[in-house]
Amino acid sequence: MTRVLIVGAGIGGLTAAITLRRLGVEVGLVERAPNFRALGAGITIQPNANAIFAALGVDLGRDNVFPMGKVAMLGAGGRTLVSGDPVHDGYAFPSYNIRRPDLHEALLAALDGVELRLGVEVVGARELAGDGVEIELADGDRERWDLVIAADGIRSSLRALTVPPERCRLRYAGQTCWRFVVDAPELVPEVTIERWLPGRRVGVVPLSRGGVYVYIVESAPQGTPGPGTSEVAYVRERFAGVDARLDTLLDRVAAAGDVHIHHGDLIDQVHIDYGRGRLLLLGDAAHAMTPNMGQGAAMAIEDAGALGLLWGEVSLDALPEAMRAAREPRVAATHRRSWQIGQVAHWRGRVRCALRDLALRLTPQAVMDRGVDQTWAPGIALGEQLRDKLGRRDALRKVA
Ligand SMILES: Cc1cc2nc3c(=O)[nH]c(=O)nc-3n(C[C@H](O)[C@H](O)[C@H](O)COP(=O)(O)OP(=O)(O)OC[C@H]3O[C@@H](n4cnc5c(N)ncnc54)[C@H](O)[C@@H]3O)c2cc1C
Repeated sequence: MTRVLIVGAGIGGLTAAITLRRLGVEVGLVERAPNFRALGAGITIQPNANAIFAALGVDLGRDNVFPMGKVAMLGAGGRTLVSGDPVHDGYAFPSYNIRRPDLHEALLAALDGVELRLGVEVVGARELAGDGVEIELADGDRERWDLVIAADGIRSSLRALTVPPERCRLRYAGQTCWRFVVDAPELVPEVTIERWLPGRRVGVVPLSRGGVYVYIVESAPQGTPGPGTSEVAYVRERFAGVDARLDTLLDRVAAAGDVHIHHGDLIDQVHIDYGRGRLLLLGDAAHAMTPNMGQGAAMAIEDAGALGLLWGEVSLDALPEAMRAAREPRVAATHRRSWQIGQVAHWRGRVRCALRDLALRLTPQAVMDRGVDQTWAPGIALGEQLRDKLGRRDALRKVA
């Protein structure tokens, strides 16, 4: 039986493990973190990703999810630039806002039969001529696997072992981001809000169980504000008076005292690459993108679905090339659009911003809806194909 090792138990690695396991593959999964305590704040899982989860039988849990419902994008003055209902007719899968730890719990619960080893770091990998891959662990142990899937995130060290250095370049978007979740039932907005201000953005996202997920993005030199800064104090000082809702939420964070503010620069991989030979890249390791479309994890989840469809159709050696052919055009379009949205959102200058805002306000709803369809429809179709393949397999197993 083919033995596959997945490196990295993020959203991409976990979904790939669930997919291959459902296909009867022997899967090992290693994660260098000793536990899943530092998972981050909130996330939106859009319909294209939820279609894959549905095919795999991943249950996010009714109490954990907040159906995203309407979205409102506001300009600097608070005026609505774009509003939409992403759950429009014809979509079987809604968008869900969820706390990242809850999402991880749901994925872990669906692992069923996958051996997960925490606190295990892969430090090397070497292809054995025609005989799989030998990996080296941080404790010096070596293991042989038929295929290794590197789902080790944007700073993937395995990528550098298989992809030429000039294709491993990361790019700073000129923007840095803070995120937190605070329990504040009376402050949960009815709609998901993103407000664009010159050089800044504020997102306020409703969560289940009275939670509010907040993200704040600012144009700044890379590495701002520097080590040793208190995130809460910095954010309160920098953003005071920018948005009344944010002021209230930050007061709540300061009063609670135990809310962690996650901070990171917005970075993407310049080149999309799915690896070589028996070392396949997946998720952020293959194509990390800026988060402006909320599609980074969705693309990792779709990668896992695409891998499931290709499994058994091509040889193991041909998988990276088959994944590239199946995924690159779609991922590249999302990657590019996400970057562009982030840059336009932070424009400065009154005239430029006024013209942008006017153009957004005048864009017909049908045009907006078409853009949303183009983002979701391919993933939903992929989910349907995966469900059929898994269904056929289950039926065959029952007959046998
Ligand atoms: C601000 C922000 C907001 C976002 N919002 C959204 C959103 O709303 N919707 C959406 O779809 N996406 C969103 N994303 C993108 C999403 O978070 C990522 O695309 C997704 O988490 C990538 O998952 P991954 O599994 O590929 O990588 P990761 O989540 O980075 O997981 C990689 C894992 O590999 C482990 N690892 C690394 N190296 C090794 C090693 N050598 N050995 C063993 N383990 C290793 C790491 O510890 C980690 O657990 C957002 C991103 C950001 C920055």
